[in-house]
Formats: sequence, C-alpha cells, structure tokens
Amino acid sequence: MERWSRQTILPELGLSGQQRLLAAKVLCIGVGALGSSVTLYLAAAGVGTLVIVDPDLVERSNLQRQILHGESFCGLPKIDSAAQRLRDLNPELTLELHACRFTPDNAMALSEGCDVIVDGSDNFSTRFLTNDTAFFRKIPLVHAAIQRFEGQMTVFAPHLGGPCYRCLLPDMPAPGAVPSCAEAGVIGALPGIMGSLQAMETLKLIAGMGTPAIGKLLCYDSLHCNFRQLTLRADPLCRLCGNKPIIHSIHNPQTLTNNTCAMSNFKSISVNELHQLMSEQSKVYLIDVREPEEHAQAAIEGSILIPLATLPSRLNEIPRDREIFVHCKAGGRSSRAAQFLIDAGLESVTNVAGGMDAWLAEGYPSAQ
Ligand SMILES: [Zn+2]
Repeated sequence: MERWSRQTILPELGLSGQQRLLAAKVLCIGVGALGSSVTLYLAAAGVGTLVIVDPDLVERSNLQRQILHGESFCGLPKIDSAAQRLRDLNPELTLELHACRFTPDNAMALSEGCDVIVDGSDNFSTRFLTNDTAFFRKIPLVHAAIQRFEGQMTVFAPHLGGPCYRCLLPDMPAPGAVPSCAEAGVIGALPGIMGSLQAMETLKLIAGMGTPAIGKLLCYDSLHCNFRQLTLRADPLCRLCGNKPIIHSIHNPQTLTNNTCAMSNFKSISVNELHQLMSEQSKVYLIDVREPEEHAQAAIEGSILIPLATLPSRLNEIPRDREIFVHCKAGGRSSRAAQFLIDAGLESVTNVAGGMDAWLAEGYPSAQ
C-alpha cells in the first residue's frame, strides 16, 4: 500500500481503483519508443499483468528514445531488457513475454483476457491488426504514432462508441509512401510524451476514471508546443465497424505481413480522359458521391448523386454489368467509394482523380 499511496489518496482512483489496476492485464505491442514509457508507467502504477510482444534486439540507435533499454542490453532481446527493468521497478508485476511479431496467427491468443491493448508498433500492418483484434475482442485500443517532431494519440473502442483505426485510415498507404522513423527521424523526448499519454489513458480505462479519449485525436507538434484536438467520428462505410462490414476476421489483406500492402484495386482516370470518354459515348455511368449542397452548386452533366454515406444503402441501385465511374470534390471521398464498390463485388470501378475541382479547373462545363 505504501507503494501506491500517492495515487490511492486520489478519490478518483482510491483503493478500489488500485484493486482494478492490480487485477488488470494489458497487452503491449512493442517495447520500443512508445512502449518504453507505456510499460514503465503501467508497471509503476501497479497494473498487475503486462503481456509484451516484441521480436527485436536492442540496438545502439534505439537508446536515444527507448528509455526502457540501456547500453548493457545492446544486441540482446528487448523483452529481456524490458523484463529486468520492469521487475526492478515492481517485483510483484506479472510479465508474459513473447519474443515474436504480433501476427494474425497469434493475435487472438495473445489478447485473450486482456483489458486494454496498447499499440506501440511502428508499421501499418501491425496497427491494422491491433485494431481488428481489439474490435473483434471488444477491448479498447490505445493508439499512438510518432514521426519527426509530431505525435498523435487516441483511444479506439467502437463497442463503447466512436471510430476504429480503419475509420481514420481506410486503406493501407502504399509501400514507401510514408517514411519510417529510420528514414524520417524522430526526436528523443517525443515518444516519452506520447507513450505517457497512452499509459494515462490505459490507467483511466482500467480504473474507470475521467473520460477516455474516444473520438478524440490529440495531435502534438513539439516544435511549436501545440496540442490540437480533432474530433473523430465513426465512418458508416468502414469495412470493419461500419453499417455493412466486409471484414469478418483478423485474417485480411491489411494484416497479412509487414511488407505486403493491400494496394487499391480500382482504376483511376483524369478529368481530361473522362471528358473525352463522355464525348465518345453517351452513357457513362458516373456517380457523384458529394453532398447534395455541393452537387447543387456545380455538377457534371448526367452524373448521379449518391452521397458517400448513403452508398451502402443504395448499392442495389448501381448496375453490376457496367463500368462505374465515381467522383467527388477532389478525389478523396471518391477513392473510398471506389474501394467500397470493389469490396462490395463490383468488377469495374474507376475513380476520377482530382474530382470536380479538377473538372472546373480544366474549364469543363457545370450542369448547374
Ligand atoms: Zn471503423
């Protein structure tokens, strides 16, 4: 009790909250930069069991930010380094250590009985996998990501309301599109801050204190000392947590391996190509997925208005035996619509790159 006395006097936690922490089990994906401060603070606060998954060895280039590890463990497994430090911090801590990757084959077993999953991974396929695992297990996921001088943190818990990671990022970025920390760099203290935020959210979720950061993305710009808060909403088109989900298992293209990325499998054309096509054939099936107000201001002649959010419920209106073109304002929403239509089984779907903005910029006419 002496060990926890500074926090058990807080009425928001109290002895009952401390009991919940002691009885809790948290799955920590990675003990690198974020995982260092996450596991140190969770162990120190009295979380009873930490399940730690990390296949890597400690490298000297880690030590600038991965404060769990020291010089004496260079070349040795991170989980061994973590175990020694965390057991010294709290000898009563129960550790389940796994020197392996978090994969679709072990994800359900490793997350069994866990109260919270904390994602300290550094790649997209693991983030998709932790998201899907948390979703199917109905366990809150405390997410953070860092790069250069910036970090973001949120809690995904669709079973409690709010979005999942796939609502935020429907598609895996193409290989090389987002540089890794090794390529882009990351400043030393940043993961300490973002990992501490993750640890704090985890303690709150377990003990039932305060309001978890569900539906709230906290963005930290360390260079200018700015914290921004973005509201996140669940995407009704989300392939995992949306109204018509098409992902029913943690085994899916995005979670397969670290190096294979699910590429978009719809086609794309420019507004010039679309204009050419429309002048050649009279019946191009073009869907405008913008909102009615946008369509009323400017539209492409003959386009059919089906706002993105209504696409799942209006799927049966769309012919399956024709080439389907989709456009929006600038190309973002329409690429999501195109992917949704492909996932829904339509064979020929083409996104109009640049959307209405590009159409008008090229001087093509508006029907309105
Ligand atoms: Zn979702």
